[in-house]
Amino acid sequence: MRIQGFQEKINILNAEYSQEIKKSIALLEKSMRYNSLGNILKEINSSLELDSVAEILTSEVFSLIGKNKGVCVLYLIDNQTQKLVLFKTKKGDKGLVIKTKEGNTLDFWVLRHASPLLVEDIKNDFRFDLDKLLALDARPVASLISSPFLSENKQLGILRLDSEIPGAYSQDDLRFLASISDLGAVAIENSELFKRAQDLAIHDVLTGLYTKVYFMERFKEECKRALSQKTPLSLLMLDIDFFKNYNDQFGHTAGDIVLKKLSQIITKTLASLHPLISRFGGEEFCIAITGKDKKEAYKIGDYLRREIENEKVILRRSETHITTSVGLASLPVDALDDEDLIRKADKAMYEAKQKGRNQVCSF
Ligand code: GH3
Ligand code: MG
Ligand code: MG
Repeated sequence: MRIQGFQEKINILNAEYSQEIKKSIALLEKSMRYNSLGNILKEINSSLELDSVAEILTSEVFSLIGKNKGVCVLYLIDNQTQKLVLFKTKKGDKGLVIKTKEGNTLDFWVLRHASPLLVEDIKNDFRFDLDKLLALDARPVASLISSPFLSENKQLGILRLDSEIPGAYSQDDLRFLASISDLGAVAIENSELFKRAQDLAIHDVLTGLYTKVYFMERFKEECKRALSQKTPLSLLMLDIDFFKNYNDQFGHTAGDIVLKKLSQIITKTLASLHPLISRFGGEEFCIAITGKDKKEAYKIGDYLRREIENEKVILRRSETHITTSVGLASLPVDALDDEDLIRKADKAMYEAKQKGRNQVCSF
């Protein structure tokens, strides 16, 4: 009898002991996770490129929470369409194809509620219609955690981890995911701002063509390469004739429409030549074409000039046409470096103006 009593006590103590062990393992895991937040923060702050920020977020979530199993997906919201766009995935099964490139009901739930979501077993979750989900996404998902990227009330996207196994994630996992998403939101927003600033330095806001500064950088390299490879390079400098009159007659906004339209004509007409095109000044454009000598470039320039002249432009309900004066200079016959080539093309353009406009003049 006494031995039996002892045995019972030992059993109880053993059970308590293993509970304590479990608890301390859980605590240890928790503290390791929260320590790793500092590392994640350091890692994502070391990069301003959206792609590497997304790579860090998904791989950390996939390994730390997902234990390299299931699927981790990062969606971003497209600024133009306001739709979710699949941006990055990490998968345990490499062959798995993710069909819902624009998210599914579960992702829309997270966006609508702007809050994290834990689904322990989708079959028993009254919030979601399993049949509808299966019809959309053939990928078997039984449980998931998902968290939005929120930045000052603006939705940037979603970070989601899902599994074929029910109950794969806990409330703690969800809290951890939400903490990573909070860090991620700041990093994503920073990288978007960085990209926009980079883009503004490269592309002219009105026409989308290269800015003068960026063009000059690329043009310099292109000239050097053409010289070393003994390839001709031609530069067309194009200026709208009497543009001031358009502004005076139809207003500045109409003038802007003309500039946009002209940029489209240039881009479309010369697309197959892969030129560098820049809005060089107010109503002045520079076009560098590698591989075309002066004679060929003259034909191209004159063809472009006619295309522009023939294009109908409707301003304030009246039909008008724009004409341009074009100056041409080529490397190596007219100049041996970028700056000199620009000077010569500018001179030729001035001559085209002097000679009565709407024409191409070679240096
Ligand atoms: P020319 O044939 O001698 O080139 O005559 P022009 O009137 O085109 O030449 P000018 O250089 O005197 O005038 C250029 C005009 O281009 C002045 C300005 O009103 C206009 N312009 C420059 N940048 C912009 C712009 O971004 N938008 C609009 N709408 N007009 C611009
Ligand atoms: Mg002009
Ligand atoms: Mg001008």
